[in-house]
Amino acid sequence: MPIRIPFPSVIVLVGPSGSGKTTWAEANFRPGQVVSSDALRAAVGTGAHDQKASTDAFAVLESIVDMRLKRGLVTVIDTLGLNAEDRRRWRQKASDAGMASIAVAFDTEAKICRDRNKRRSRSIPAKVLEGQITRYAETRPALDDEGFAAVYSPDAVVPVALGSWSADEVTPARRLRFGLQVSNFEWGDVSTPDSLAAIARRAEAAGFESLWVMDHLRQIPQVGPAWNDMLEAYTTLAWLAGVTETIRLGTLVTGLTYRNVGLLAKIVATLDVLSNGRAICGIGAGWFKQEHEAFGYVYPPDKERLDLLEDALQALPILWGAGAKSFEGKVISIPEALAYPRPVQKRLPILVGGSGEKRTLKLVAQYGDACNLMGGPDDVRHKLAVLQTHCEAVGRDRGEIEVTHLSPTFVYTTKPELEAEAAAMGMDIDVLLGPFSGGTVADNVSRFSGLSEAGVDLAIVAIANLHRPGSLETFGEVIDAFSV
Ligand code: ATP
Ligand code: MG
Repeated sequence: MPIRIPFPSVIVLVGPSGSGKTTWAEANFRPGQVVSSDALRAAVGTGAHDQKASTDAFAVLESIVDMRLKRGLVTVIDTLGLNAEDRRRWRQKASDAGMASIAVAFDTEAKICRDRNKRRSRSIPAKVLEGQITRYAETRPALDDEGFAAVYSPDAVVPVALGSWSADEVTPARRLRFGLQVSNFEWGDVSTPDSLAAIARRAEAAGFESLWVMDHLRQIPQVGPAWNDMLEAYTTLAWLAGVTETIRLGTLVTGLTYRNVGLLAKIVATLDVLSNGRAICGIGAGWFKQEHEAFGYVYPPDKERLDLLEDALQALPILWGAGAKSFEGKVISIPEALAYPRPVQKRLPILVGGSGEKRTLKLVAQYGDACNLMGGPDDVRHKLAVLQTHCEAVGRDRGEIEVTHLSPTFVYTTKPELEAEAAAMGMDIDVLLGPFSGGTVADNVSRFSGLSEAGVDLAIVAIANLHRPGSLETFGEVIDAFSV
């Protein structure tokens, strides 16, 4: 049975040599999250077994623990864990940092530890091991009542937000994946292509699954003034395809009023070919009337724009398919839908933007691969109930439709950092963050747990402080908490 570990927390490993502590830590945590006395002996002494370096190694270990806790980072302490005073101090530090303290007890049979020790290239003296085995036997019975929030056996780890964690619960958390939306191209005095490439690569490294841009001709009022830079969506995605390896690429979402649907099919197929199958096709009925007028585009009435959305949902797979079929829709016709190359993906996913309950969500149920929702868990639950009803009406399995969610968020490592930023901007934290907008890593984990439980599969975040150094890497800690 996997164990649910609250995030962030201090995890103290307890067990004699050879009981499997380091092996378990390596299998369940990233290297930076594990602080190991052996590794630090090797760092400050001649090797992992340099006992003369122990005092220095433990001093460094303690500083690393302090610094990670100051930043609210999950920390695994990989030592024997057999000293009661050490364990008490680490629990106290966890509590001071507002984190839970967890012990993982390695009840490995003494015989197995002895055998493993003998087989090791550098075994420890048998007498020393016997001493550890005895101390463990004395320590173990009292460990449960020592003050740890929970004492676990070393099973597979399921990370859970501290706020929604309880020591008794064992159901695994839902997995949640993350995408990054870049909506602000004001970099200051630095190169736009380089900045974009760096963000894309860092997002990929931090564990974001997809990268999204808006499809607008000028900045939208929700983000900034109209004269701010706004890169053309598909040109930007083509650049990003060339500088990344694995991250998926899409618009959130393409307004169908801006391009002939056949041309859009060509563009997205080309992106899919050039990115080796990483394109996602986000489409919507468009909404920014002023922008249409400014560029001389026709902005048709709601019904006509939704008819166009319906036509596009039918026509795009035809345009991406084999042959030269013709398509006759409500508002568009394509006499000869011949477009090569075809996309690399067998089914290039179509994400439908918007969550209008009568028509848009019905179109999702009929034709969409993914929907895109906003708001809090209750809003998500409500929209998914509506989607479910449409699915039942058209005989579609709701589970086939991926639920994506878009929200702005801030990410800070710690509360003090967040407070300092709010103070610098002359704002209350609540005003800075808004109702749904994260905060520290732990705040974000807790918020996204709620959205995940409401049914979100892919959370797309527009990180409001993206240009702050380390923002994506800090958000990577949130992603880690959900990568079950
Ligand atoms: P030390 O306190 O000496 O660092 P440790 O508790 O960290 O010991 P490990 O280094 O993780 O122990 O494991 C010791 C040996 O046991 C390793 O060779 C490892 O491959 C093996 N081992 C650990 N866990 C398991 C396991 N679950 N199943 C099989 N072998 C294991
Ligand atoms: Mg070890």
